[in-house]
Amino acid sequence: MAIDFTLSPAQQALQQQARTFARDVLSKVKDTIAVYPRPEDRFFATRPFYAAMAEAGFVHALVPTAYGGGGMSTVDFALAAEELAAVDINVPSTLLATGLGLEPILGFGNDAQKRQWLGEILARPGERLAAFAFTEVTGGANFDNPDPSAGVQTHARRDGDHWVINGQKHYTTNGCGWDGKGAHLLSVVCRTDLTRPPQESLAVIVVPGTAPGVEVTGYLDTVGHRAVVSPRIHFNDVRVPVSHLLGAPGDGMKICQHAFSWTAALIGAACTGVMRAAFDIAFEFAKNDRRSGAVPVIEHQNVGYMLADIRMRLEAARYLSWKACHQLDLTERRSDELAIMTKIYASELCVQVVYDAMRLVGVDSYTDLTPLAGLMQDALCFPLYDGGNMGVRRRQLHTRFRAPGYDPMASAEGRG
Ligand SMILES: Cc1cc2nc3c(=O)[nH]c(=O)nc-3n(C[C@H](O)[C@H](O)[C@H](O)COP(=O)(O)OP(=O)(O)OC[C@H]3O[C@@H](n4cnc5c(N)ncnc54)[C@H](O)[C@@H]3O)c2cc1C
Repeated sequence: MAIDFTLSPAQQALQQQARTFARDVLSKVKDTIAVYPRPEDRFFATRPFYAAMAEAGFVHALVPTAYGGGGMSTVDFALAAEELAAVDINVPSTLLATGLGLEPILGFGNDAQKRQWLGEILARPGERLAAFAFTEVTGGANFDNPDPSAGVQTHARRDGDHWVINGQKHYTTNGCGWDGKGAHLLSVVCRTDLTRPPQESLAVIVVPGTAPGVEVTGYLDTVGHRAVVSPRIHFNDVRVPVSHLLGAPGDGMKICQHAFSWTAALIGAACTGVMRAAFDIAFEFAKNDRRSGAVPVIEHQNVGYMLADIRMRLEAARYLSWKACHQLDLTERRSDELAIMTKIYASELCVQVVYDAMRLVGVDSYTDLTPLAGLMQDALCFPLYDGGNMGVRRRQLHTRFRAPGYDPMASAEGRG
């Protein structure tokens, strides 16, 4: 089939629905959260917005139709993500984090596990959050280090028919749930044997937030993504049945990669949305403001060139993220190189684009006279989270390039 980027009528309707939802609902998030100095209160204040998002079908969309959900493709999620992120990054990130928490179950859960946990989330989609507890308080970058003394130290000890989990995580988005006590479920990255390398011991175990020993010990305050919650979660002798293990010990490596490839591709689309917002602000300024000069600043050549650069970059990011999402959909996530590249490329481009929009608007962009400084605060997160671009380059691109037989055309040609 020839290359065709034409959106179907259903995709156009989805895009329009997301655009309208963002304009009518998410546009109110900024003022709602502005009055709260504490990060957890900003997050709690977004609860009605998340409920509205669930009402609009976005939580159902995370779950395949076979398990009662809407089964939205990654490409379709990208279309929606761009629209939502162009207006607000916070509530869509809470949705993304629920998706990240469910991804291990979707990719590696058995039928009974999927039915139970996906069904529970769908029973109260606006109230029940999922979370992915990956990052250790001591760092996340070396989770794949083959040295058993390094990497993930959260330990799941087998005790009869139970796992007993001990460890300390932070940045567990959604981990505190709406009540501050625990998300409905947490997919916890741990090791079943601290004397064995992660290739044999890394595992993901699903923990209900109500399990005794799950403790929210504090909240990190972030520069941007102001209402995306970053709690510290301690697991103190948390007991769950052995059936809560996804796959087998050692599968944790694959599970983390699988989960982060989905978010990586969608973060590319979210970055496109933020770039779009930055362009719109710079464009309106350029057309309408003279800065005490004789003509609107768009008449100056340098301003036109900067607008051109911003537009070109965001268009490139959009189609790369579409292609990456399409590739994930076609291969059931097996081919994730483009997703990884999309995350790195679009996130760094986004920081550059917002900075260029600030340069174009000038000094007012550094104040609350425009939303650009806030967009910069949000944009700075993109290269740093979801594995961090330094780590993603190293673990998922450099490693591939060094592997014998690496084929640089495979992902572009849909072969792997
Ligand atoms: C808003 C937000 C939401 C988040 N949501 C979640 C979530 O839901 N769940 C979750 O678990 N985490 C979450 N995180 C954390 C996020 O995924 C981090 O990107 C991840 O934990 C890795 O961080 P890091 O790469 O900076 O690792 P760190 O271990 O902190 O490493 C820091 C730096 O050290 C250097 N470094 C370390 N080791 C090496 C090495 N071997 N070789 C070369 N350089 C090295 C690199 O420069 C690296 O950037 C979130 C973070 C934010 C800000």
